[in-house]
Amino acid sequence: MKVTEHIANGKGKTQFSFEILPPLKGQNIQSIFDSIDPLMEFKPPFIDVTYHREEYVYKEMENGLLQKKVVKKRPGTVGICAAIQNKYQVDAIPHILCGGFTKEDTENFLIDLDFLGIDNVMALRGDAVKTETYFTPEKEGHRYANELVQQIDALNKGEYLDEEIMNQAQTDFCIGVAGYPEKHMEAPNMESDLHFLKKKLKNGAEYIVTQMFFDNNKYFEFVEKCRSAGITAPIIPGLKPISTKKQLNLIPQRFNADLPEALIKEVLKCETNEQVKEVGIEWCVEQSKELIKEKVPFLHYYSMGKSDNIKAIARQLF
Ligand code: FAD
Repeated sequence: MKVTEHIANGKGKTQFSFEILPPLKGQNIQSIFDSIDPLMEFKPPFIDVTYHREEYVYKEMENGLLQKKVVKKRPGTVGICAAIQNKYQVDAIPHILCGGFTKEDTENFLIDLDFLGIDNVMALRGDAVKTETYFTPEKEGHRYANELVQQIDALNKGEYLDEEIMNQAQTDFCIGVAGYPEKHMEAPNMESDLHFLKKKLKNGAEYIVTQMFFDNNKYFEFVEKCRSAGITAPIIPGLKPISTKKQLNLIPQRFNADLPEALIKEVLKCETNEQVKEVGIEWCVEQSKELIKEKVPFLHYYSMGKSDNIKAIARQLF
């Protein structure tokens, strides 16, 4: 079922959903089930599965020269989605990127998803590979997520890259895109970021999931700005409970999300990461309660592969 249909079925009640990462290469599917099982009692209508593009690693050879190797540390997005749909009978939403994909790769990826009975996709640009400063698309790939959305929307209309293809079966994906309450880190300002967000929706996206935020006012202001800009699509808030002291530096840097002074103070008082986890849970529960009061359609939690804190939060809310 499509995310937009799940929202309609919720009839104004906030529902629970979450995002998982494929495990590092070498682990089996049970490791994924182990992180999902504890959360199934909260009846998520859908689960997102992130996509991780290739990385470059440099290996020293016997002659002292460096050899560049392309590795994918977390493969398995599509397989995990199929396994989730099969085992739990809930919708799995694969993330799909511009980065590392040619248009042909994208088309073939979408065909696989369609054959597997997957109804939703989250369309993203992806970040630059770790060893590069700027995002570089594949030669025959997309530069921005709005172009990727356009390709998915075209396939929904039966338009393939090769116009001479026979039959031209239509797909029927509901397309989600990312939104940034504190603006995307590369955007010169919020207006520009909203302009391109609007383009993603104009090109066929039907809902937005936000980057994590720790101050609900940032979300409320973002929704207001979107509505003033003429964006009418549902805006699902994405939440992450803080769980280590290290994240005080990492989150603002990697996700361009500000941490409120009060939260920083509480985390700094902690002596162990177990205590930080408790602070993170409490903060996230308070955020969630206020968002539920505002009747957000879903609360979407970034589990980052760890379900115990998400379970502790969900138990108090759903
Ligand atoms: P875009 O919408 O393409 O925007 C990127 C930047 O370009 C923005 O600053 C935008 O304002 C600007 N822009 C857009 N169009 C144009 C244009 N035509 N001309 C000039 N500027 C333009 N990353 C992963 O690698 N895997 C994942 O699974 C993943 N999941 C995510 C899920 C969510 C909910 C979110 C919020 C992020 C996720 N990311 C993931 C991270 C995401 O890939 C990065 O934030 C990336 O830098 C931007 O992706 P985007 O789709 O928002 O890009």
